[in-house]
Amino acid sequence: MLKKMLLGLTGDQLKGLAADLGEKEFRGKQAADWIYRRGCRRIDDMTDLPAQFRIKLDELWEVGRSSVEKISSGRDGTFKLLLLPYYGELVETVGMPYEGRFSCCVSTQVGCPVGCAFCATGAGGFKRNLAAGEMIDQVLTVGEAAVREKMLAADGRVSHVVFMGMGEPLLNYDATMAAVHLLNEELKIGMRNITISTIGYVPGIYRLASASLQLTLAVSLHAAGDGLRRKLVPNMSRYLLKDIIAACRHYINHTGRRITFEYCLLKGVNDSHAEAAALASLLKGLNCHVNLIPFNEVQGSDYRRPDPAVIMAFRRVLETSGITVTQREQKGAGIQAACGQLRRQSGPK
Ligand code: SF4
Repeated sequence: MLKKMLLGLTGDQLKGLAADLGEKEFRGKQAADWIYRRGCRRIDDMTDLPAQFRIKLDELWEVGRSSVEKISSGRDGTFKLLLLPYYGELVETVGMPYEGRFSCCVSTQVGCPVGCAFCATGAGGFKRNLAAGEMIDQVLTVGEAAVREKMLAADGRVSHVVFMGMGEPLLNYDATMAAVHLLNEELKIGMRNITISTIGYVPGIYRLASASLQLTLAVSLHAAGDGLRRKLVPNMSRYLLKDIIAACRHYINHTGRRITFEYCLLKGVNDSHAEAAALASLLKGLNCHVNLIPFNEVQGSDYRRPDPAVIMAFRRVLETSGITVTQREQKGAGIQAACGQLRRQSGPK
């Protein structure tokens, strides 16, 4: 029988586990240091824990780290790791260096049940939810690879986490939120440096609002009308755009946080002036900004990236309406690590 993962337990849970095994609680704190701050992979390597405690732990528990199956590196410093997580099935995670920060893009599911028309993952179907510890493992593993590649100093660490990898995070809510709290409390990543991206799963947005966290919520629209959105995001068609916007308004009012709307621009599909105007009117009065993601062309996909002039024109319509617009940098395109290009990872949710 597979042992349980220590990775994913909070400091308090580890203290409780130590007490249950007849040890002083601070032994649990020591174990947390080994797991979350020293990247320890084996219980036996936690050398300042008493040998008896390690033996007892080892009977039912394992640290639960993944193995790295493949690393692909891009010219822009982005790298993609293919990981075999503790509970099996391959997942991808991406490390992205930026000026003064290092970001990790985390997968929350193996495959994805949403099946967006333009997403490389959507085609692969859904396999399973990832455990919180398997998400934290991605961040630790990306950090270790970045140190090895000298992108981070030996004592450097991942500073930002985006839950934009394979899967819809809000459909794996409990594990994703457990991971968010572990990132914040054990890995000391500020809440404001954590982004959760959703395709517009309305019940999840309300649930997240009630958690009142200072993280960033990114909501992917990809269309300004329900007819087109139904085609692009078929498995979320029970939530109309007016319901998604109402949930977002509630989120903004409840948390005081600005929302990012993601919009993947697809040539001849959703990049027209009319679509831009409809998007501007949909978002009128909301405390938000729009992140445009020109489609990253994937082999075998019928979708294409719009011409730069069309992207600029789309952007101008939004900006003229007073909406702040950013355009996502196309990081990792050369190694199929950019949005929409990952076979085992997500598209531009
Ligand atoms: S874009 Fe996101 S929600 Fe849509 S299929 Fe891909 S991973 Fe799932």
